[in-house]
Amino acid sequence: MIRQKIVAGNWKMNGSAESIKNLVDGLLKADQSNSEMVVFPSFPYLHLFSTLCGNSDLIKLAAQNVSEKESGAFTGEVSAAMLQDFDVKYVLVGHSERRSIYGETDSIVALKVQSLLKKNFTPMLCIGETLEERESGQTLSICEKQIQAVLDLVGIEAFNNIVIAYEPVWAIGTGLSATPEQAQEVHCGIRSFIAKSSESIAQRVQILYGGSVKASTSHALFAMPDIDGALVGGASLDAEEFLEIVKAAG
Ligand code: PEP
Repeated sequence: MIRQKIVAGNWKMNGSAESIKNLVDGLLKADQSNSEMVVFPSFPYLHLFSTLCGNSDLIKLAAQNVSEKESGAFTGEVSAAMLQDFDVKYVLVGHSERRSIYGETDSIVALKVQSLLKKNFTPMLCIGETLEERESGQTLSICEKQIQAVLDLVGIEAFNNIVIAYEPVWAIGTGLSATPEQAQEVHCGIRSFIAKSSESIAQRVQILYGGSVKASTSHALFAMPDIDGALVGGASLDAEEFLEIVKAAG
């Protein structure tokens, strides 16, 4: 099964109108490729980002978060319906920073996935273990538990429209990437877990690796059979570096 690779840049809470103009200018210099380039700017810059991209479909726009609620008195939150006013394709859910800093539980993450699917977005579901969990041999069971919560709420068919990002927490922003072999082992385990519910969906679902990916480490990661691209934080703030990663994805 050939799965299209995705290289996604999570800009987190970084940038200004000025720096984003420069970054988008740089990214629009990309050659056409077979992989999909995705960028997650912060909410205030979604409109600017679309405007800067104009008619180009080189970069897919994505959002870093969504509320699990539909509308109402939830100060500071952004609903899936609001995101429909932008040309957003993907939305991050379950990023470890949301789980650990903002207390998002597996059940909140599942509700967010559900609200996105109702509005035809593709959730990018982040999962992954802490260092302590890895060292106590729980890597796969943690990933399975995080996926199971979503499966229980939306069912296996929904995974036709969900992208999974395996991001070991100990590798995010630390410079300590998982080795290609370590990542492949977990990706293969995740795919086998999905296959218990549907073999065909398991073959189709795109599983990205995230955690200190750089241009220099991306080739070896992308050579692994179950790694379908990358979710990139720090290195996505440098257009040249990010484009090198997109190029490595082919
Ligand atoms: C991330 O935040 O999703 C991430 C992978 O960050 P970094 O590439 O900086 O580790």
